[in-house]
Amino acid sequence: MNQRQDAVRCPKRCLLCDQTFGEAVKWTWIFGLEEEKAICDQCSSALQRIRVIGCEECGRPGMMVPNPSEEADRLQQELALTGGRRAELCDDCEKWRTIPPWDRLSFRHRALYIYNPFLQEVLARFKFRGDAAIARVFTGDLRALAGRVCRYDIVTAIPLKEKRQWERGFNQTELLAECFSSVPLLQRISSSEAKQSKRGRRERLDAVKGAFRLADKYRRNVQGKRILIVDDVYTTGATLRSAAEAIYEAGATEVAAITVARSVGKST
Ligand SMILES: [Zn+2]
Ligand SMILES: [Zn+2]
Repeated sequence: MNQRQDAVRCPKRCLLCDQTFGEAVKWTWIFGLEEEKAICDQCSSALQRIRVIGCEECGRPGMMVPNPSEEADRLQQELALTGGRRAELCDDCEKWRTIPPWDRLSFRHRALYIYNPFLQEVLARFKFRGDAAIARVFTGDLRALAGRVCRYDIVTAIPLKEKRQWERGFNQTELLAECFSSVPLLQRISSSEAKQSKRGRRERLDAVKGAFRLADKYRRNVQGKRILIVDDVYTTGATLRSAAEAIYEAGATEVAAITVARSVGKST
């Protein structure tokens, strides 16, 4: 590398691993056409972005299609058969459609990345330390994702249980939603302190059903509006659907959700 190139390299600290890395200064930064990198190449390659969607509703990642034109043909045929509606739902979403109110209401979710061990560690650090710098790694991409998922009028974050928020003094999901000027529409009403990870699917569904209510002062703001919920991780979707249900009950016309990470573990 010659001296001239060295002069235009900008040393920075990776917001995820704290190692220094260099990035060549680009003229596109000056005009705001491209964002500066916030993380090093190693961290960047450890994040698995979800590029192929397997389920239209929950955003479960799909398999890469070896021949894209074959896939396009298949979709065309499917559209013709289903009257324009793509019938690509995973088993979980098929099940949700049999449970009121999801037999008549829509719900859509998309995540940025697969919840792999690297991201689990990053988000655990974020959750317990409330490191606002980590939020900055994701907010730009979350905004872009939100624009692709739906049109929305109000953005809100999933609130923590009051006790937990008091202990930690912050809600990591609100840090993620801050870039949208989010409105705290939701309140937790469940008193169950049991950890979700230790339960079976059925129990988890029961535990989160009716876990949220609309904050009284925002109840009227929601009527006839399209709402986007932000959360950090999508596991079974039960928490997000419970929050969405409370928002629909207050008269919203459409509710969708985005998260940083989506679990791809077996759904049982
Ligand atoms: Zn790094
Ligand atoms: Zn699904």
